[in-house]
Parts: sequence; structure tokens; C-alpha cells
Amino acid sequence: MLVHKMRASELYKVFVITGILIVIIVNCLTIFGINNNLNKVTVELKGDTNLIANINEDYNDPGIIVNRHGKEVKYEVKENTNVDTSQFGNYIYEYDVVVDGKNYKLTRNIEVGDKSKPIIEVEEKELTRNFCSKAISKEPTIKVTDNYDSDLLDKIEKKDLGSEYLISVVDSYGNKSEVSIPIKDEEEPKNKIVLNGYSTQTIYQGNSFVDAGAKVYTGCGIELPNEEIKVEGTVDTNTLGSYVLTYKNEKYNISETRTINVTKKTEPVINVETDKPGNGKVVYLTFDDGPGGYTKQFLDILDKYNAKATFFVTNQFPNYQWLIGEEARRGHTVAVHSLTHNWNIYNSVEAYKNDFNAMNDIIEQQTGKRTNIFRFPGGSSNTVSRGHQKGIMTTLTQVMQQDGYQYFDWNVDSNDAAGANSTQVYNNVIRGIKNSSKPVILMHDIKKSTLNALDDMLRYMTNNGYKFGTLDINGPIVHHGINN
Ligand SMILES: [Zn+2]
Repeated sequence: MLVHKMRASELYKVFVITGILIVIIVNCLTIFGINNNLNKVTVELKGDTNLIANINEDYNDPGIIVNRHGKEVKYEVKENTNVDTSQFGNYIYEYDVVVDGKNYKLTRNIEVGDKSKPIIEVEEKELTRNFCSKAISKEPTIKVTDNYDSDLLDKIEKKDLGSEYLISVVDSYGNKSEVSIPIKDEEEPKNKIVLNGYSTQTIYQGNSFVDAGAKVYTGCGIELPNEEIKVEGTVDTNTLGSYVLTYKNEKYNISETRTINVTKKTEPVINVETDKPGNGKVVYLTFDDGPGGYTKQFLDILDKYNAKATFFVTNQFPNYQWLIGEEARRGHTVAVHSLTHNWNIYNSVEAYKNDFNAMNDIIEQQTGKRTNIFRFPGGSSNTVSRGHQKGIMTTLTQVMQQDGYQYFDWNVDSNDAAGANSTQVYNNVIRGIKNSSKPVILMHDIKKSTLNALDDMLRYMTNNGYKFGTLDINGPIVHHGINN
């Protein structure tokens, strides 16, 4: 046999030459178009084999493509599917097409999912950092909308990164959105002169006036005890009239004035206190209509700032009755609002007292003692009660006070009962405490808007030297006018 006579090197040459010939032949076939491909029918999916259809949107399938002799041709395709985009799920989309008597079947996997990120809108273009507290002066107002999740507010994450504030939210499908807001540092607040004692003071003619003096504070409320203050002006208590003392500090070029009115003994005393940083005025937080589902969270936030409040309680949500005891245990004041909070209590004095006493019974069960302070549903100025019995508010205020109880209205309204959102609640309260010497603030611990505003509100108050007071029989008594 020939092969047997071939040497190994000759066999190798035959292999190499045969290989080269095969490559040349295949290339020639391709160049001269003898390749089978042009005659082939191809049926393929347009788009990916696995697609995501957006939840709650119509699904438009990209379809299939049929090529015959290298040209796209239209064929009748039977599509078989039941993609329901109203809920998450997986589907198989089938296509049937007959080309030149031959049946082609294709499938695509479709997952109904969420392709859209949540949209974060922030009202503020820029945030500011409080010079004194180093905290953000006001939390941003954030709105989040999403194609699928109806409420993502609880999912918002906020990070203070120093020069920017990062807000992010992840929807229930895992889509994440982020927004960054620049933070600007507030300027250092100027030093100020703070009066000891009253800024407006009444002295009776002939009595002696002793100046209580003044101190210099930094803008952040820190006393600078060694700063010199010069006082200009005099007070002649023998002569009726109005006298102004001016306190000046030259180093910081700041000044403050005190007005002393020398009056006859028959005239009323008017003394007005100034706000003192670090020794600030007292705010009275009051919460009506609870306890309810949010009350526990209210208590936790109050604890964070060691802020005490007055709760005017009801039994509208008996499942949360135990929180009345919890309010007392955490050092808050519990007072009567109403057992039922039903306007029928204004049908008669008897109806009112029955409701009132039943609520006080519950308070006694929960806290171990009855209360002698209360707030009328709707306040003492409410106009609903007269529709139940004309003149009842005048009667009730008198009868209840004769029985040893004191009622409290408010002079700052958060407006949460009227539907104010958390930003509005915050603004109403902060504006209110600046404009009232003894702010008694009306809020409701059954309102989520107030819950969401509370942390910011308490931080502002704490940072600005406000103290938290609770109401008792002595006040501060705020009474509205009665509208019989
Ligand atoms: Zn109420």
C-alpha cells in the first residue's frame, strides 16, 4: 500500500494542502452567491426574547420579522397571549406563522413589571443650614409620584452630606430615584442686647424704679458676660410720663430700649417681657381628639426633645385608650376634651356633663386621678352649639367654672383640623409662636400632617431657646369670645 510507503512528513503535506483547498472552495462559493442563505426563509422575533411590559400601561408587542430570499415580507401572524398589565406577572407570548406551507412557532417571555422610576419633586431649590444648631433650618417639602405605588412618602430617605442634601426613594419594584439639593450656610446671626426684666414696664408715680439691666448675647443665644453696656436716659418716677432707656454696646454697635411708663395708681399695670435667648418664652403644645393610631409616635418624638404637652383626650378610638395612661406616665398633662366628640353634647347642660364626667372617669382609670381642666369640642367660640341649644356656651362656661373646672382655648392654630399639610402646620405654628407672648398651640394627635411636622417644629423651638410648658388650672388661660 502507498500509504505504508509514505513517510510521516509526506502525510503532513497532504493534510495541509487539502485544508487550504477546502478554505479556497468555501470562499469561492460565498463570493459567487451559491450560499444557501439567500434562498432561506427566516422567521425571527423583533426585539428581545425577554421583555418587560410596564405595569398599568398598554403593552405593544414589537412583533416578528419574516425574511424570504433576503427580503422582509408580510405574513399573517397568529398571536396568542393574555398579558394583563394591571398586575405583576410572567407571560409567554406565542406567534404562529405559515410560510410556504411550513409552520413556524415562536415565543417571547414577557414580565409585567415596573419600568418607571418614581418622580421626586422638591419645592426648595436650595436649603439653608442654621448657623447655631448646624441643622437644616427647614426640612424640604418633598412630593413623590409613581406610576404604580400610590404612597411612597414613608419610603423617602434623606441624607445630609454637608454641602448637599440627598433625597432618594425606591419604589416597590426596586426602581430608585435621587435628587440632590445644595445646602447654603446661613450667616452668623448678629450679637444682641437682651434686657433683664420687662421691655415695657409700668411704675406707679412716687414708687422707685430699679433698672434690671441688660446683657449681651451672641446671635446663637450665648451670654457674653464681660461686654460693657452703657445706659442712656433717666426715669423720673415723680413725674407722669413715658421714659425710654437705651442700652448700648459700642464694640458690636448694638442697642436696645426699655420703655417705662410712670402712671397714676388707678391705672392698670402693663408689663411686657422680652424674649430671652436660652431662657426663652414658654410654648404650650396642646393635642386634641386622641389618643389614636399616631399618638404613640407623637409621644416618642416629644420624648426625643424632652418636650411636655397637654393632651385633651377623647374616647373616639377605644383601642388606644391605654395611651391616656402612657401620656401621664411620660410626664404630659391629660385633660378632658370629650368622650364622644359628638355635637349632641351641646343639647343640654346635662348632656354635656354626662359626656364630660364619663371622659374624666376614663382618665381616672388610666392615670389614677381626675383632671380639672378641659377644652370644649370646637372651642368655647364654636358656633355649632347654638344650633343645638341657644345660649348653651355661656351657661356651660359659667356652670363648669362654678364646679371648679377651667377651660382652655388656644391662640395659635396649626390648622391641622382644616386639612393643612405638614409644611403649612409647621409654618402656622412657628409664625404663631413668634407673634404670641404665651402661645397655646392647637394641634391634633390624630393628624398625620402634624405628626410629620412635629420633629422639625420641636427642633426649631429647642434650637431657638423656647421652653415647653403644660397647662394647669392657673393657665395661661386663653378664652375665646363666646358666640351664642
Ligand atoms: Zn376636637
